[in-house]
Amino acid sequence: MTPTLVFYSQFDSFEAWRDLLSPLLPQVRIRQAADVDDADSVLYALAWKPPEGFFTRYRNLKLLVNLGAGVDSLVGRDDLPAIPITRVSDPDMGRMMASYVLFAVLRYARDIPAFERAQRERRWHYLHPRLPGSIRVGVLGLGELGACAARELARQGFDVRGWSRSPKRLEGVTCVDGMPRLDDFIAASDILVTMLPLTPETRGLLSAERLALLPPGACFINVSRGAIVDQRALTEALTSRRIAEATLDVFDREPLPPEDPLWQLDNVLITPHLASVAIPESAARQIADNIGRLERGETVRHQVSPARGY
Ligand code: NDP
Repeated sequence: MTPTLVFYSQFDSFEAWRDLLSPLLPQVRIRQAADVDDADSVLYALAWKPPEGFFTRYRNLKLLVNLGAGVDSLVGRDDLPAIPITRVSDPDMGRMMASYVLFAVLRYARDIPAFERAQRERRWHYLHPRLPGSIRVGVLGLGELGACAARELARQGFDVRGWSRSPKRLEGVTCVDGMPRLDDFIAASDILVTMLPLTPETRGLLSAERLALLPPGACFINVSRGAIVDQRALTEALTSRRIAEATLDVFDREPLPPEDPLWQLDNVLITPHLASVAIPESAARQIADNIGRLERGETVRHQVSPARGY
């Protein structure tokens, strides 16, 4: 029996993934779910938001790879097989995310939105540049993507602090951990960047009360998941300019509806959930490597814990 990898995604190109994975996995057939004729030969699944009950057909499944870094749509399901679940998260994805975050932070650190507004009014608006070391950037979440972004920000000389669940050590970054440290962390962030996964613990974490802890005039960047933040409270804080600026790549509803008040705010930069994407060329190598590890009886990398939620 030739082992099969079943592919499911309504967003990603099957042909692109097949062409990349086939040379790396010459012993494995790569098939779209609709083209699998022998469900028992399916040992691996590469899937993004498969329909309810998708896994029941594949009773010999040994590895499930989530086709993306965010697993919130997967871990909450009650039909997950009890097998290792991994996600795609490669160094290229980290670099892409870090460049987005760096762009957003530098834009605020160099007062670019103020110059954009002044230019529209033909107004010469001199603001003396601040030293990066005088700007406190708080990064919530120091995982694969958050740590990469925090390091890049530290390289630029910002006063970078990071917050995670477990203790971390990152060169150039002051790391704190745990819920009891969160409020002080927020209160000491001139620019707050959200890079947390959406889990039962982080849903609504940035409530109206917590957003109110930000120093007046702080900037806010969300590149992880919209539901981590109370979007209505954020909109109010931005409207009153208590939060001066925001860069938002993710929202509690996507696409952001045309009637949403955030669209009208000139202190908000909106991008359509693309801060980072899975890059098939490097992710395919990671997937093939994990299948090799599984077959050799080694621990797979980038494993997801459904109980923990990420
Ligand atoms: P990881 O799972 O590698 O890291 C998550 C980080 O968040 C870890 O540092 C973890 O702490 C921390 N964390 C999780 N829960 C808590 C908690 N309750 N309290 C404190 N810290 C917590 O994720 P990635 O870095 O790979 O990705 C982060 C998120 O980015 C993804 O979950 C996804 O939602 C989003 N994303 C967005 C994209 C976009 O285009 N906008 C693209 C890709 C991903 P610890 O280290 O202690 O476990």
